This record gives sequence, structure tokens and C-alpha cells, in this order.
Amino acid sequence: MITENLELIRNRIRASCNQWHRDPADVLLLAVSKTKPAADIAEAYLAGQRHFGESYCQEALKKQQELGAYDITWHFIGPIQSNKTKWLARDFGWVHSVDSLKIARRLSEQRPAGLPLLNVCLQVNISGEASKSGIALAELPELVEQVAALPRLRLRGVMAIPSPETDFEKQRVPYRTLYRAVKRLDDPKLDTFSFGMTDDLDAAIAEGSTIVRIGTAIFGARQR
Ligand SMILES: *Cc1c(COP(=O)(O)O)cnc(C)c1O
Repeated sequence: MITENLELIRNRIRASCNQWHRDPADVLLLAVSKTKPAADIAEAYLAGQRHFGESYCQEALKKQQELGAYDITWHFIGPIQSNKTKWLARDFGWVHSVDSLKIARRLSEQRPAGLPLLNVCLQVNISGEASKSGIALAELPELVEQVAALPRLRLRGVMAIPSPETDFEKQRVPYRTLYRAVKRLDDPKLDTFSFGMTDDLDAAIAEGSTIVRIGTAIFGARQR
């Protein structure tokens, strides 16, 4: 199933890019494997998938151990507890969910010297719900400046998880707002928009996404 699902989602990304005059090479498919076993990741890997996203540190480290021989780029996309930054800094290529200077500083300090800079995105709480993680849009310019100055991080852009909408035009609005806010900063380092999940993939691509984070459409529904 996973192999077929990957083919379907790749086709969906291609079709969406065609429709919105985007180059499919500019949209990375991140397979979100949280709660799914290492065997599922191995199957996706055999079908050519190399980038995987995880939301829970402990669970991710266990799978990384099981899959040590695979050439996988691991992305962390979940909420960050400060007592976990050491592992995130050591065992991931990307962290999408940085939402404070404190966390960014810890990741920079703890990124091992032998590894390339850790790619990071700032998570922006674009729908403004108090319950969700992420910084307010108004805080973005200052945090960009501060995080960009940290020596062991490579600040790449922003990540957003808008509140769910079924209407396509409504799905586009928060992504458009955030895309424009980043473009106004006029900073060529900021080349990454981590936008879009299974249910709003097309809206995200329409609004400039460069990484789509897809779980359900590849691995099926999650139990938790
Ligand atoms: C779980 C998760 C996804 C994947 O969501 P699907 O709807 O299953 O595609 C994407 N991004 C984040 C941050 C997630 O936690």
C-alpha cells in the first residue's frame, strides 16, 4: 500500500505544481512517519523516499536506531521540550518547530561540531489559537534576526499548521499571509516554507510551499 500511496501523492504534487505554475523540483515530499513502525519507513525507503518527519523524540530515536543503515534525512516536526534538544541537535538534519530563542540557542550549542549546520524553521502560529505552539507573526522579524546569528544553525524559513478548514480558498489564506510576511523580510536565506499536510496539500502548494509534510496519505490513518 505504502508504495502505491507514495506514487499517488507524488502525482498529486506534480499535478498541483502544474496547476499553480510551480516547478515540482521545488517541493520536497516529507513523509510523516510518527506513530508508524520502522518497517513502514523501510517500505517507503525502498520506494525511493528519503526524507522522513517525526513528532516524538523518543519514538524517533528508537526508529533511527532500527534503521541505522538507511540513508535517511530526519526532520523533527513536533513540539520541542528543552530537555530533548540534545537529541534533536544530534540526530536530525532539520527541526521545523523552533518557537523560541531559548530552544534555538540550545540547539545551536548542542549541535555536534562534526555535523553540518542544523537546518531550522521557525514555527508560526498563523491562525492565532492560544492552544497551539508557534510564535505570533509579529514576533517573526526579531526572532529571524536572533536565530540567524546562531553559529551552528542554518535558518531556512517557516513552518505553519493552520487550524483545519475544508474550503480550499479558506485553506489558502493563512499560508498566503505568512508567505507574504516572509517575503517582506527580503532575506534570501529564507528559502523554505514548510506548508501543507494531507488535507491541505493543494492550497499549500498554491501559496508557495517548498516542503509538504504528508502522513495519512502515505501511511494510512493513525491510531493516536
Ligand atoms: C502529523 C503531522 C503531519 C501529517 O499530517 P497528515 O494529515 O497525516 O498528513 C504534518 N505536520 C505535522 C506538524 C504533524 O504533526
